Amino acid sequence: MLDPVSLIVLHTAMMWACAVAFALIRRFEIGWGFPWHWPVAFFIMPMVMLIGGYAEQIDSDGLRLLGFLTGFAGPAVLADGVRAFLRLPGRPRLWIVWFVLFTGAILGFTTLLPSLSGRVLVFQLFTAGIGIYAFTVSRHLPMDDHPLGRRFVASFAAAPILAFAGQLLALALGLDQTLEVKNIAVLVLAATAIGIITAIGCVILVAERFAAQVGREARSDVLTGLATRRVFDRALERAVQRFTETATPVSLILFDIDHFKTINDTHGHDVGDIALREVADCARAAVRPGDVLARLGGDEFAILLPETDLPQATDIARRVLDRLRSLRVATPGGPLRLSGSFGVAQALPPSDTPQALVKRADLALYEVKRRGRNDVEAMSLATLPQPA
Ligand code: GH3
Ligand code: MG
Repeated sequence: MLDPVSLIVLHTAMMWACAVAFALIRRFEIGWGFPWHWPVAFFIMPMVMLIGGYAEQIDSDGLRLLGFLTGFAGPAVLADGVRAFLRLPGRPRLWIVWFVLFTGAILGFTTLLPSLSGRVLVFQLFTAGIGIYAFTVSRHLPMDDHPLGRRFVASFAAAPILAFAGQLLALALGLDQTLEVKNIAVLVLAATAIGIITAIGCVILVAERFAAQVGREARSDVLTGLATRRVFDRALERAVQRFTETATPVSLILFDIDHFKTINDTHGHDVGDIALREVADCARAAVRPGDVLARLGGDEFAILLPETDLPQATDIARRVLDRLRSLRVATPGGPLRLSGSFGVAQALPPSDTPQALVKRADLALYEVKRRGRNDVEAMSLATLPQPA
């Protein structure tokens, strides 16, 4: 059942099916950076079996050389694909030198000093070189975006390096070096398994990039680049939880641009968008690294301030308001001035809730709007509305 010829045909069919699937992914991809290298590599990789097997049958040195060259080119193109996936600059000169040296060495062990063991050792040395290249490239895969893909590429890069090291060790120990693989069926099955795992690795890299991109988009507001409401809600929940457990103060500023609808109506939505971005930038400049600045929606923003009490938070709110007042948004009709209304609240003992904290900051903000806008109001214990 496991006759080598059928297995080689099946192996080739599987690898080429992957090549076709990858070519289609590349054709229809939507900005995932799927490199052309991967379909090409999967097309080339099974050729070593096809050509090598045929070369033995008809005893052709030319075909043997071609078999080794494809055996080199497949992994090389695959590894360079990871480099292209990362949009790193190519190293064509390095590849040409490596390829010429490889071809020369294989030719040497085919014509001058015919030896299969020699050719296999040369092959292992040069594929170990490809492994080192892939390993170096894998270090550029950001761990945050590619936790699995990076390990995947690194393990695959390590395989030919370890194989070559094992080979050298075996030679040094004088172990029996019957490098001719006796069981072709096992070899083809192993190549098939490696092919499948490699294909999964390529798909994992692309899927991780996609997931990271979606995650980033969900975490940051498209217009301003600030944190989204979802991120803010989670951060608020954690901060209030920490407050309940450790009594470390935490404060919240909610603010809203005054008469923003009029700006949109008078100057157009585009100017409104520019104003929102500029407001975001001036708030960004006023907050500290641990603070969470978010756009909650429309013209409403929030700043979560860990380890900050009400007076400090009120100062920060005033600072943002000052910056906001000094903004001049360019419009066709001349510079546009802005103002905002700020509500500040602090988490209260013994066990505040995120909802209650937001509610108090919102009440303070509403109070500023009611008074005529363009100011800061802090919701202190004294000003808390008393239960009826
Ligand atoms: P107030 O002083 O009471 O806050 O009045 P306002 O006009 O600022 O308040 P309102 O909440 O009625 O207006 C918010 C406006 O923000 C309404 C909406 O059209 C506009 N808006 C919401 N999202 C966007 C956006 O992404 N871009 C722009 N340009 N406008 C937006
Ligand atoms: Mg407003």
